[in-house]
Amino acid sequence: MKKGQLLYEGKAKKLYATDEEQVIWAEYLDQATALNGARKDEIKGKGELNNQITSEIFLYLSDKGIENHFIEKLSKTEQLIKKVEVIPLEVVVRNLAAGSFSKRLGITEGTVLPEPILEFYYKEDALDDPFINEAHIAFLKIAAPEEIRLIKEAAEKVNQELIRLFQQIGLELVDFKIEFGRQADGTILLADEISPDTCRLWEKESGASMDKDNYRKQLGDLVPVYREVLQRLTKISV
Ligand code: UDP
Repeated sequence: MKKGQLLYEGKAKKLYATDEEQVIWAEYLDQATALNGARKDEIKGKGELNNQITSEIFLYLSDKGIENHFIEKLSKTEQLIKKVEVIPLEVVVRNLAAGSFSKRLGITEGTVLPEPILEFYYKEDALDDPFINEAHIAFLKIAAPEEIRLIKEAAEKVNQELIRLFQQIGLELVDFKIEFGRQADGTILLADEISPDTCRLWEKESGASMDKDNYRKQLGDLVPVYREVLQRLTKISV
C-alpha cells in the first residue's frame, strides 16, 4: 500500500489517500487541544499512544461483531482505515454524570445514571459543536431517520462492550464520544478514534482520571496515564 496525497489535517490526525480508492492512511499527531481548539499543545508521544489504543479498541469491537472503519495498524503512529464520508455528529454516551452534563444540568460528577444517556452534538467548529436533537438532525439533513436509528443502536452496543472491556482493566467508563461515516455504498460505519482523548475513564480503585481531563483540567502529564491505559489493554488482548 502506498501513501498518497494529504487529504485532511485535523486537530489530532493527518489523513492521506492511498493507491486504493476506498482506503485511507491515518497518521496520529502529538497534538492536544481543548476548548474547541482555543488551547493547543504539542505532547510528545501522545500520537503513538492514541494510535495504538484506538487500534486495540477497534480490533476488540470487531471481535464483538461491531463493524468499524479500522483495517490495520501500520506503525506506532499510523493505521489504515476504510474511507467514509464522516457524518458531522458527535455521538456521546454517558453512564455517569461528568463534564458538560454535570455543568449544564447541575448534577454532581460521578452520579450513576440509571440508564445510559445518549446525546448528539452537531460537529461544526464555527458554532462550537452545539447540542442538538433528532428533530434538528432531520431539519439540517445531517442524517436520515433510519441512519439515526442504526447509529443509536450501534452506540448502545459500543457502550456495552466498552464498559466490559474497561472493567477488565480496572477502569470505569464514565462517558465517551464516537463518530460514524457512510461508505460509498451508503452503509453506516463506526469511524474516527476511541481513546482516552474521546472517553472519560476513572480508575475504579483511586477514582483518578485516566484520560484527557488531565490536560483539560491541567491535572498532570497525559503521557504516563495514556501509557498505563495501553499497557493494561495489551495485557488482556493477548
Ligand atoms: N468528547 C470528545 N470530543 C469533543 C467533546 C467531547 O471526545 O469534542 C468526549 C469527552 O472526552 C467525554 C465525552 O465526549 O468523554 C463527553 O464530553 P462532555 O460533553 O462532558 O464535554 P467536556 O466536559 O469534555 O467539555
